[in-house]
Amino acid sequence: MQRRISKQIHIGSVGVGGDSPISVQSMANTDTRDVKATIKQIKELEAADCEIIRVAVPDVEAAEALKGIRKGIRIPLIADIHFDYRLALAALKAGVDGLRLNPGNINEPEQVKAVVKAAKERSVPIRIGVNAGSMPKKKNPDWTVAQNMVEAALEQVRLLESLDFDLIKVSLKAFDVPTTIAAYTDIAARIPYPLHIGITEAGTPRTGIIRSSVGIGALLYLGIGDTIRVSLTAPPRDEVVAGYEILKSLNLRRHGSVLVSCPTCGRTEVDLVTIAEAVEKELSKIDKPVKVAVMGCAVNGPGEAMDADIGIACGKGMDVLFKKGKKIGTVQEKDFVRVLIEEVKRL
Ligand code: SF4
Repeated sequence: MQRRISKQIHIGSVGVGGDSPISVQSMANTDTRDVKATIKQIKELEAADCEIIRVAVPDVEAAEALKGIRKGIRIPLIADIHFDYRLALAALKAGVDGLRLNPGNINEPEQVKAVVKAAKERSVPIRIGVNAGSMPKKKNPDWTVAQNMVEAALEQVRLLESLDFDLIKVSLKAFDVPTTIAAYTDIAARIPYPLHIGITEAGTPRTGIIRSSVGIGALLYLGIGDTIRVSLTAPPRDEVVAGYEILKSLNLRRHGSVLVSCPTCGRTEVDLVTIAEAVEKELSKIDKPVKVAVMGCAVNGPGEAMDADIGIACGKGMDVLFKKGKKIGTVQEKDFVRVLIEEVKRL
């Protein structure tokens, strides 16, 4: 994979683009006006290693709440603004680290100019966040949705550039995966700015993680994408976990452990689903970049999970403990989760 070269910007302390690691972000789903509840949720997301957080700013009260939220959290705060540019001005005044503007509903040049002027004074980046569901009017009836999204973004990019502003990040999200991929691959070759990638309104975790993984994964494999958000109808923490799993599956970030477990077959003599789930739960508490295997038999298990740092191959009543495919001992079935986790901690 060759990563697309992009200009680096900083959202607070987090670099986006250039050679910065691809960051994982999420969006709070509390009422932004409820400062206490919003800080509580963001603190939980910080504990899950969320790196950037965005909050909705639907009205003046929410904009005023941003100051208190900013003070109560560690990670950079982005204000999500639609329809009313004055909320963007209020958010900047409140001290946010980034803005997201939707060109589908804030595109009056004079209004955008006012926001850009205030953002420039504070060196706060702006994401031009195009969404297929809320687009400006089609410029050309023959254009595809992706082409129309790209043109909407480019128009606002040009406006920001004409104001001598280059702290720009762009996103072009659609629910349809091929549309999203077409839009991002098109714009990636036409602008130097970092790209925030994601599939919008992807759904519940069951289908949304798959849809997001396909879309985000395909783009990342093409070297496109500097920060990601997995949009799920679920607690935001699930978005962060899914984000890291996508990056880990492409070897783009290391984050905690990786669990390898076999699909089971006619050779399996134990309840491997329960065992794997118990191991996964324990591993989620350990912040160590290790690869751990839970396999359903000693015949093929150690070999099939050869590259795991440590693993167990589960047989009836007895498990074989192995390191890098080599047997290092046996464990009684009742002890295996405990022993495996102890070994992981020792590594
Ligand atoms: S590791 Fe063993 S039990 Fe698991 S799928 Fe392979 S052969 Fe079947």
